[in-house]
Amino acid sequence: MYQFSRSIYRELSDRVLESPTDPAGLENRQRVLEACEDTMMRLAQDQRYFARPTCTLFREVRNFFALRDQVWVYKVIDANVRLATEYLAQLPNVGPFGEPRNCRACTRRGTPCQREPLPGRDYCPSHKHLEEFDVEPQVTADAANSQQVAAAA
Ligand SMILES: [Zn+2]
Repeated sequence: MYQFSRSIYRELSDRVLESPTDPAGLENRQRVLEACEDTMMRLAQDQRYFARPTCTLFREVRNFFALRDQVWVYKVIDANVRLATEYLAQLPNVGPFGEPRNCRACTRRGTPCQREPLPGRDYCPSHKHLEEFDVEPQVTADAANSQQVAAAA
């Protein structure tokens, strides 16, 4: 996946703005690079729950570019996100970094299921019935987590 974040960054880096506290623009470039890498990581690991990667990345980096470059920045990001998404879609049944994928379910003994998930799915054939229940609890769990974080802060 790094080839996609590198490729976005390579295209964008020349036009990253400098700032008074960062005359060479090095810090700003570093932040753009990190934002690109974060987005690609998240896309690779959590594509099904990452609804609008182009918008997310664009929001994070747009302030580092001149107003006249905004549309161009969006197009560069969008083109590369599309390529990355297509790349992920045609991957064999391995993770984005070539690691074997495992079914997301737990066995009755509470250990993670070691079987290979169905292509494009998160569960193996014996656990595939869990898939349809997955979307809703995932959202609820995330919401509960962020509430806990908010309460702890
Ligand atoms: Zn399984």
